Amino acid sequence: MLVDLVFRNAQLAGLPGPVDIAVKHGRIVAIGANIRCDAITEEDVEGNFAFPGFVDSHVHLDKASILERCTICAGTLEEAVRETAKAKAGFSEEDVFERASAVVRQAIFHGTTRMRTFVEIDPRAGMRSFQAIKRVREQFAFAIDLQICAFVQEGLTQEPETEEMLDEALRTGADLIGGCPYTDPRPEEHIRRIFALARKHDVDVDFHLDFSLDPAKTDLPAVIEATRENDYGGRVTVGHVTNLSVLDPTERSALARKIAQAGIAVTVLPATDLFLMGRDHQSNIPRGVTPAHLLLADGVQAAIATNNILNPFTPFGDASLSRMANLYANVTQLCRDEDLEEVFAMVSARAAAIMRADYGLTVGAPADIVILDAPDQQTAIRSIAPPLAGWKAGKKTFVRSRSHMFGNPGV
Ligand SMILES: [Zn+2]
Repeated sequence: MLVDLVFRNAQLAGLPGPVDIAVKHGRIVAIGANIRCDAITEEDVEGNFAFPGFVDSHVHLDKASILERCTICAGTLEEAVRETAKAKAGFSEEDVFERASAVVRQAIFHGTTRMRTFVEIDPRAGMRSFQAIKRVREQFAFAIDLQICAFVQEGLTQEPETEEMLDEALRTGADLIGGCPYTDPRPEEHIRRIFALARKHDVDVDFHLDFSLDPAKTDLPAVIEATRENDYGGRVTVGHVTNLSVLDPTERSALARKIAQAGIAVTVLPATDLFLMGRDHQSNIPRGVTPAHLLLADGVQAAIATNNILNPFTPFGDASLSRMANLYANVTQLCRDEDLEEVFAMVSARAAAIMRADYGLTVGAPADIVILDAPDQQTAIRSIAPPLAGWKAGKKTFVRSRSHMFGNPGV
């Protein structure tokens, strides 16, 4: 057999020992021990872990890296929305393109091969951020699949011109639509209009939802109802839902089963939730991170994602999903191998399922492969193992060299 590329000694999830992966015309044509083939290129993976790359299902590229333009005093959600709105009015297309490109470059070096980015569209942002992110999608298409979510952060019903702008974005290259009922004076009408636009353009929906620690303050029943009415099961995701984190296990489980039955997925955003929630507590501060791994047990599809990087929502970040998985596992007190395997799935295969991406290391799948400097997923999360190299459709997209120490390390 003549192939374009063969990986030797790759450790894959669920297999007892290392295998080879053969690639032809950008797709995987064989996986197995000691594949006999002639290959134009051969890569020795040296027993390290190979997978199709991390999947970041919730990122805001347009408002990343603006810390120096904002003032953080209270560290609350309200302040973050307000400060970012002020900064946003000054965004130019070039400015968004430069900042977003820098984050996408970082994400690629951290082994991310797919990303859903929200882009704010409203009278303050105009279509500038959207135009910039479309250029970013094109610029980095060789290494990463970027899904663009036309997003309304600051309310829809009180700014009627936003609806026409969202419609235009969906006509001109946005992949899906995102709503945020908690900032809208009429949350139920907001949800109704977002679904109407989604149906008009036949696109999926992703809501920022229930971002507080008060379970009584919820738009979830309205989203569940709208999902059913519109027959949108499997096409709706909700991000944050931090109020689930304060429910007792029985209440949380009952709600989780309703979410699962409606076909709604959940994305948990630990870095932002930890930073913004519980600001009115002086001690014993609640974590505000919804336990995504417990939702899985009730049948909910769930992912863990980055959300924001270096802005008033999250003044930290490097677009690394192994770091985010480590943060999540640490804060939710997970340590068993089977739990860490689920955490890994929530930054890879489960997030890919939410994005409905063609994903998996199987024969016939696209040869999107990332090698981590670790023997398995659990070690990768525990040690925040850096990626060593990545390929998309069989083409090498990046390489990172291991650190090298000079002198005598034995002394
Ligand atoms: Zn978000």
